[in-house]
Amino acid sequence: MAVCGSRISHSQMAFANGSSSAHDRAILSATQTYYQPSPAASSVPRREFEPDRPIGYGAFGVVWSVTDPRDGKRVALKKMPHVFQNLISCKRVYRELKMLFFFNHDNVLRALDILQPPHVDFFEEIYVVTELLQSDLHKIIVSPQPLSSDHVKVFLYQILRGLKYLHSAGILHRDIKPGNLLVNSNCVLKVCDFGLARVEEPDTSKHMTQEVVTQYYRAPEILVGSKHYTSAVDMWSVGCIFAELLGRRILFQAQSPITQLNLITDLLGTPSMEDMKYACDGARAHLLRMPHKPPCLSALYGLSSHATHEAVHLLSRMLVFNPDKRISCIDALAHPYLDEGRLRYHTCMCNCCHNTSAGRQYTGEFEPAAPQRFDCLYEDDLHTVLQVKEALHKFITDRHQGNTVPLCINPQSAAFKSFARTGKKVFDVPSDAANLLIPVRQ
Ligand SMILES: [Zn+2]
Repeated sequence: MAVCGSRISHSQMAFANGSSSAHDRAILSATQTYYQPSPAASSVPRREFEPDRPIGYGAFGVVWSVTDPRDGKRVALKKMPHVFQNLISCKRVYRELKMLFFFNHDNVLRALDILQPPHVDFFEEIYVVTELLQSDLHKIIVSPQPLSSDHVKVFLYQILRGLKYLHSAGILHRDIKPGNLLVNSNCVLKVCDFGLARVEEPDTSKHMTQEVVTQYYRAPEILVGSKHYTSAVDMWSVGCIFAELLGRRILFQAQSPITQLNLITDLLGTPSMEDMKYACDGARAHLLRMPHKPPCLSALYGLSSHATHEAVHLLSRMLVFNPDKRISCIDALAHPYLDEGRLRYHTCMCNCCHNTSAGRQYTGEFEPAAPQRFDCLYEDDLHTVLQVKEALHKFITDRHQGNTVPLCINPQSAAFKSFARTGKKVFDVPSDAANLLIPVRQ
C-alpha cells in the first residue's frame, strides 16, 4: 500500500493529529449556531454547561444531545415514536436497530445502548443511544467556510471506506446524502440513518421499492423505474456528493423525477439502448423522444479549481448511467485520487494504526470488510405487528442482561417536557435541567 512510501505535505500534517486545525475548527464553528437552542444559551461558553438539547428532527422522530450519567460522556439520543402503527414501519425500525448493533466500523454510526422498555403492553416508542458527532456534510457544504482539496479527499475516502463495509455485509444504504454523513470536530466521518437500508436482493425477479433515496441523489436506474437494483445505487449517490463537495452546490437539483432524469442526461448524454435496459417502457419512450444529447462530462472540470484530471476521472466513473458499468466501492478505493485521503486518514485520524517508538505502525487492512453478512432471516417469521413488538421487546431486554447499568428517561428533568413533544421544534429548552437520562434503579 502506498501509505508508508508516500509523501506527506505540511498541510496534511496540520489536518488533525489528535486535535483539529484552525481551518477545521472554522468549518465546524460555521455550523455551531444550528445547534444552539436559544440566543441566551449561545452566549454561554460551551464548556461551562452542556444542557441536554435537541439537535435534529425528521420523519423518524427527534435526536437529542444528552449526557450519559454513567460516564459523563455526551451521546446522541434518538427517539423513535409510534413504532407499532403498521407492520412495514415496525419491521423497518427493528431492522434499523439490528443493524445499528451489528455495525462495528469507524465510518459507520453504531448504537451504544438502548433505553430499558416498559412492559410490552405499554411498549410504544424506542430510545436508542448512539455516538454523537457535531455536524454533518450538508451543513459543512452550505457553510461559507472554504473546503480544501484535502478535505474533499479525506471526506470521500471515509464515505467509501464506510460504504465498503456496508456493501460487504450485503447492506444497501439507499439514502446516501450529505445530511446522512455525520462529521466530528476532527473531520472523522460516519455514515448514519439506516431507516431505508435493506439487505441486497440476489433474486433479480423480485421487485424492490422505488420509494428510496432523496431525489437529488437518486440513481438513474431508480428514476427510470427499474424493479431491481444493487449497491450501485449508493455509488451514484456518492458521485453526486463528490461533485457537491467540489462545486459546493447540488449537482442535479430538479423539482421532479422527470426533470431529474433530464438533468442527468444533459451531462451524460442520451444513454444507449443497452444502457437503458433497466428502464420501464414509459421511461425508455421518454428518453428516446428527447432530441439526442451528446455527453459533456468535461463540464465537471468547471465545478471547482480542485476538479483535477484525477478527480474528474473518478467522478465520471461514479456518474455512469448503466449500474453494471458504474465503478464499485472497492474499485473506487483503489483509484489514485484516494491515495492522499487514505494517507491522511491513517496518519492521524484513524483508530486502526498506532504510533510506536519505531514510528507509525500501520494496520494490515486499511479498508476492512464486514466479518460476516448481515442476517435478515429473522424477518421471515414476523407476520404481525404483535410478533414484531414482542421480538423487538425481547431484543432490547436481552441486551440488558450484561453488566452495564440500563438507562431510562428521567421524568423529573426539565428537558423531559420538551423531549416528550415529539416532532415539534422546541427552542425553550431549560439550561439548568437535570439530566434527561438516569440509570435504572435495580
Ligand atoms: Zn489506520
